[in-house]
Amino acid sequence: MPTAEIITIGTELLLGEIQDTNTRHIARVLRNAGIDLYRTTIIGDNLDRIVTVVQEAIARSNIILTTGGLGPTVDDPTRNAIAKALGVELEFRSDLWFEIEKHFIRYGRLPTENNKKQAYIPKGAIPIENPVGTAPSFAAKTKNGLLISLPGVPREMEYLLENAVLPLLRKSFHLEGIIKTFSIHTSGAGESQIDELIGDLELLSNPTVGLVAYPGQIDIRVAAKAPSLDEANKMISGIVNTIDQRLGNSIFGYEATTLEQVVASLLKKEKTGIAIIEFGMDGNLSARLNKELVLIEKSMILESIPEIEVIKKLSRDLYKIVEPNIVLASILNARSQDDMNLSLFLIHHNIEIEKLRSFGGHINLVKPWAENSSLDFLRKHF
Ligand code: ATP
Ligand code: MG
Repeated sequence: MPTAEIITIGTELLLGEIQDTNTRHIARVLRNAGIDLYRTTIIGDNLDRIVTVVQEAIARSNIILTTGGLGPTVDDPTRNAIAKALGVELEFRSDLWFEIEKHFIRYGRLPTENNKKQAYIPKGAIPIENPVGTAPSFAAKTKNGLLISLPGVPREMEYLLENAVLPLLRKSFHLEGIIKTFSIHTSGAGESQIDELIGDLELLSNPTVGLVAYPGQIDIRVAAKAPSLDEANKMISGIVNTIDQRLGNSIFGYEATTLEQVVASLLKKEKTGIAIIEFGMDGNLSARLNKELVLIEKSMILESIPEIEVIKKLSRDLYKIVEPNIVLASILNARSQDDMNLSLFLIHHNIEIEKLRSFGGHINLVKPWAENSSLDFLRKHF
């Protein structure tokens, strides 16, 4: 990212006669364009002091924006000072003089000999036409970037900033960047566990890596800012590879992929259906899998919470009927905020797997947590 400085020129600013609103306006415009502003300076209409300040700024920053002091009077020293700071002469530009004359004529006046001063700009600078005033602006190359001098009158300065300066900066510093985001979905691991594994990546500035926590699912959002989609994609895939390696099996998918889709495709790959015994989730576990066209051999939604031994017996009896399909029992016990857990019991290929998970979040979130945890348990079985 290029760095910028603003230098507002005018003794009246230092005397407190007028407020420096130009700096504030430019600062916001730069921020919105993704340009880092490093320093602002207010300086009086004094040639030598302006030269010094400009030279210091050129050495430090890529983009220098000055406002004020471009008028036709002797106390408008900006063009001389910039030429001196750049080590070049002022050059008369007949094209600029033509534009200035045209502007005067349009308002029924004649330019004075003084106005001719405004047709001088530092040698090698590019003139920026000023259709809203007489003071032409200009952009000059510096050793680290660009210096642009704008008029002091806020209305003129704002117009030129928007219509001439920003397009020039975008082109010169390749700011026409795009922001691409990418989501990685995990289940089964807690936020603090994930934080511990990728906390260093969360401190990066481009791409950025952030966590979004849902009950039973944590998303990692990667966002890259780059000049082109191609480059953004490259930046993202670099980070995604690192996250893949660190989080391994906790990751179940990317972008629009859902947990139930992952489970459904695993079941389809195994050409296997499933029988579900669930309690406490309003039948949502079965419903979510049903939506993905999973072959559901049987779905038992219990009315009351049974003992674990009863669940096991029920599961085994069911398995005898639906074999070789899977039987999953998922029983959510969430009687109070202090007592929330999920009993999982799975039978497949005559093997029984049992798991107990507990929840520490708010009781309002316990149902989606239990659904996601059940789906996570299922996917990890394969
Ligand atoms: P002009 O051709 O009108 O003289 P200029 O580029 O020489 O333009 P200045 O003479 O420095 O600009 O300023 C013109 C007017 O613009 C000032 O009298 C003041 O009202 C306003 N102005 C200048 N600088 C600023 C600033 N930093 N913030 C707000 N207003 C400013
Ligand atoms: Mg002036």
